[in-house]
Amino acid sequence: MIISVASGKGGTGKTLVATSLAVSLENQVQFLDCDVEEPNAHIFLRPVIDRQEVVAIPIPQVDEQKCTFCGKCAEVCAYSALAVLPKTVLVFPELCHGCGACSYLCPEGAISEVERGIGIVEMGHSGDIEFIHGKLNVGEAMAPPVIRAVKGHIDPRKTVLIDVSPGTSCPVIEAVRGSNVCLLVTEPTPFGLNDLALAVEAIRKLSIPCAVLVNRAGVGDTKVEEYCREADIPVLLHIPLDTEIARLYSRGIPLVEGMPRWREVFLKLFGDIQDVASMQHNGRKVS
Ligand code: SF4
Ligand code: SF4
Repeated sequence: MIISVASGKGGTGKTLVATSLAVSLENQVQFLDCDVEEPNAHIFLRPVIDRQEVVAIPIPQVDEQKCTFCGKCAEVCAYSALAVLPKTVLVFPELCHGCGACSYLCPEGAISEVERGIGIVEMGHSGDIEFIHGKLNVGEAMAPPVIRAVKGHIDPRKTVLIDVSPGTSCPVIEAVRGSNVCLLVTEPTPFGLNDLALAVEAIRKLSIPCAVLVNRAGVGDTKVEEYCREADIPVLLHIPLDTEIARLYSRGIPLVEGMPRWREVFLKLFGDIQDVASMQHNGRKVS
């Protein structure tokens, strides 16, 4: 089963929840940190990293001996990564998405492709938890290829927990795509509700069932619950606003490690998440 843990808004405690689920389950768990622009699950899980691979995308290289400067490559590039001047072709690597359209359509066969590294994937273990995370190089904008590279390591025999970046943009969609269920972590505030609704809209487009966890319960109002009731989305757990929990979070200690009584709560949460996924699988409307 693949469970993605997402949030419409940053700072809701998503990683606290994802890492606590992993530590509670412990066996046969794969933890994928797909928040490749700002991975931080390793702070909580403290994995031993033993392998690394470079993530690269193919970018064009123009042979100006063959090029007639016809301009077709710049025309077909949807990302303005090429500029054709009278006597040269400029390539802007940081804008290139590696789609290959320019080399495919060049009438002179003047474009070959070279690899450009944009990030890395690191693999290791945190106890019995298999840990994988991606890191996008500083200054790079192309998170999806790094996310795909992380997800390329998914072991379908295991329970896979995916820590998704906050928001509703392309990296979120790339990370959540293919999950059996998505747990959305939010907080009971107007901002939390607004961003939750946006996240639900995005996840529903992927036809992935979702459920909600309310973190810092008690800090705001009950509008998140009202929204979930109306939208038919199960709220599986409330984690209260608690200075001890905040202290553990600030020190990078998983909740269930610092407060072991939460382990049972997270094991029940896992069972409830499985129920949400199987209800959808059996054709019942759950979200
Ligand atoms: S499409 Fe090919 S021939 Fe035309 S400008 Fe681009 S590289 Fe040169
Ligand atoms: S590979 Fe695609 S994105 Fe990159 S320069 Fe060519 S057409 Fe543009």
